[in-house]
Amino acid sequence: MNDFDVVVVGGRVAGASTAMLLARAGVRVALVDRGTYGSDTLSTHGLMRAGVLQLHRWGLLDDVVAEGTPAIRRTKFHYAHGETTVVDIRPSPGVPALYAPRRYLLDRLLVDAAARAGTVVLHEHTVTSLLRERDRVAGVRARRTPSRASSLCPSRSCPTGSPQRHRRDVSTAGRASPATSAEAGGRGGRW
Ligand SMILES: Cc1cc2nc3c(=O)[nH]c(=O)nc-3n(C[C@H](O)[C@H](O)[C@H](O)COP(=O)(O)OP(=O)(O)OC[C@H]3O[C@@H](n4cnc5c(N)ncnc54)[C@H](O)[C@@H]3O)c2cc1C
Repeated sequence: MNDFDVVVVGGRVAGASTAMLLARAGVRVALVDRGTYGSDTLSTHGLMRAGVLQLHRWGLLDDVVAEGTPAIRRTKFHYAHGETTVVDIRPSPGVPALYAPRRYLLDRLLVDAAARAGTVVLHEHTVTSLLRERDRVAGVRARRTPSRASSLCPSRSCPTGSPQRHRRDVSTAGRASPATSAEAGGRGGRW
């Protein structure tokens, strides 16, 4: 499978959102992340107003709320000299409140939305290098633990001479199937 227009490396808030928007626009996208599907990452989770508005515009805010994320309608600031200030969160169109979803929830919802839009999602693969053809990047090389190399190439621009081409199966939930055809073959694959 080597007919991607774009390969997005890193499948969390930035990468998954980018992949989702590109796929919704009809672009053929692959999304690669070395982490596992639905894994957590270090963050304090707070979304500012603009972030909540984007989730609303993308049709995903309801999913964040439905998963049990509480609405934040008031914040309290504690200053070093002891003063405390309470600020009410003013609702605005698309932003009924602020939210602080756990990253294992937010990132997963974005990955799922990207997959629903047609993105091919591949977790547990680390991109190790770029494939170049003359003066342009033509794809990426990815490696799955322990050490099976594969290649993902946007468009039909995979450099020639890559290993045998294999098909790959990805579930609609956005998770790569446990064993891809390339891995089952036990050698490098060109996607
Ligand atoms: C302690 C802390 C608290 C924070 N609190 C907040 C907060 O409250 N609110 C807020 O908005 N922001 C917060 N941030 C910032 C926020 O976490 C980052 O801005 C955000 O995670 C960046 O998202 P990203 O998708 O660009 O990158 P990341 O979340 O870093 O995701 C990058 C992904 O790319 C993958 N990756 C990297 N290299 C490769 C490779 N070669 N091959 C395959 N995959 C690869 C990584 O495994 C990772 O999954 C906080 C950050 C920290 C550290």
